[in-house]
Amino acid sequence: MSAVILLIEDNPQNRYLACFLLEQRGHTVVQAGTGPEGLALAASANPALILLDIQLPGMDGYAVARALRADPVLAAIPIVAVTSYAMVGDREKCLAAGATGYLEKPINPETFVADVERFLQMKPKAAGS
Ligand code: MN
Repeated sequence: MSAVILLIEDNPQNRYLACFLLEQRGHTVVQAGTGPEGLALAASANPALILLDIQLPGMDGYAVARALRADPVLAAIPIVAVTSYAMVGDREKCLAAGATGYLEKPINPETFVADVERFLQMKPKAAGS
């Protein structure tokens, strides 16, 4: 299974590691460093899944997830929130914003790709639910 995955992450080191791990397993990664750039790439690159950092400068990941879910063309793409926020309730906040699932930072290189591939099989939440 190889897929086009959109990675929206502002930290270059985090982008490098996630990209390296995914490409090593045959996936194609398109990268964005900001929310607006990510939204543009979501529309043009037709990704099978979006990995979304929550802590982004300017437009944060919650806003990006809501914008994706509000777009009828993009709403069906699974979104996996990737965040170092560890507080109770953040996972729920990601899901409420439209994320399909959630992975914690720092990512575990041993399990990251398998975790992402599980989400590739999942259906997104219905928009607005
Ligand atoms: Mn970040």
